[in-house]
Amino acid sequence: MPFKDILGHEREIRVLREALNTGRLAHSYLFAGPEGIGKRKTAFELARALNCASATDDACGECASCLRAASGTHTNIVEVAPTVKDRDELVPDPSGLIRIEQIRDILSLLKYKADGGRKAVIVDGAERLMPQAANAFLKTLEEPPAGSIIMLVTSRPADLLPTIISRCQRVSFRPLPEEALIVALVEKTGATEEEAMTAARMTGRSLSLALKYIGEGRGDKGRELIKRLQSITDVSEALKFAEELSKKDDILEALETLKGWYRDRAIAASGAENLLVNRDVYGYSDGSFEGRRREGLAEDFFSIEETRRMIAPPRYANKLLAMEALILKLVD
Ligand SMILES: [Zn+2]
Repeated sequence: MPFKDILGHEREIRVLREALNTGRLAHSYLFAGPEGIGKRKTAFELARALNCASATDDACGECASCLRAASGTHTNIVEVAPTVKDRDELVPDPSGLIRIEQIRDILSLLKYKADGGRKAVIVDGAERLMPQAANAFLKTLEEPPAGSIIMLVTSRPADLLPTIISRCQRVSFRPLPEEALIVALVEKTGATEEEAMTAARMTGRSLSLALKYIGEGRGDKGRELIKRLQSITDVSEALKFAEELSKKDDILEALETLKGWYRDRAIAASGAENLLVNRDVYGYSDGSFEGRRREGLAEDFFSIEETRRMIAPPRYANKLLAMEALILKLVD
């Protein structure tokens, strides 16, 4: 049974199965929680269960409807995800935006009656709804056409408009248990326990992100980044470093690494070393940055997060200016 193939989230899935059994599903859901832990998969299995020919509270995975859903050709199940514009084409891209034309397409699809079963719309990366698209969606979220269900999936619920959030029933997905995740990571990648722990903590205990973290050697990249920041001694070096960072394709990941490091230093300054995310990277610190007090470190942490939000969609601030301001502040 497909819900059973999902790692963790027993409580959330039990609630959804009860709602399926009793016919008390909400019209609109917000599946919120860290990236890469199974939220979209859960939404998809709920959509399949609603259309399955042989089961009531889970998809059988084997009937014609379940198989069509798995191949992405079920007319009742529609998925929308962020896109970028390549000439006039919309191309899927997780760092892009969900545009008004995509929402209009869904709205017109919802006008048709379901082909047996129930219509289900999954909006993955819902924090990337452009304001216009979000506004076009409000009325339908509040009252979807009879029998249809809308599921918004997001790892950044704070970035959604309050008017969107208030129209959905929220299901909060929690990070996977750390110990189980470390065991799975060591088993799948051959990483050491220490590496697996860093990957688990740096990625908010997300299986898919932690696998990527280990696969891309991000632990080593993070250590290099921090070493470089610590070596800066004057303004011109700071500006040069900011310029280099601003040209990196993985600039958002670099900012996440910096956030992890500042978080750890703030925690270490509070004497709670057992809670460090990045024990190996923190241990790398040569102490030259430790003049900063805990409040200063927390402030720096929020400056890094604000910079990340500024340069990410939909704001797209000038990367060079944003990074110059940030690095000058951090090495101040
Ligand atoms: Zn089925």
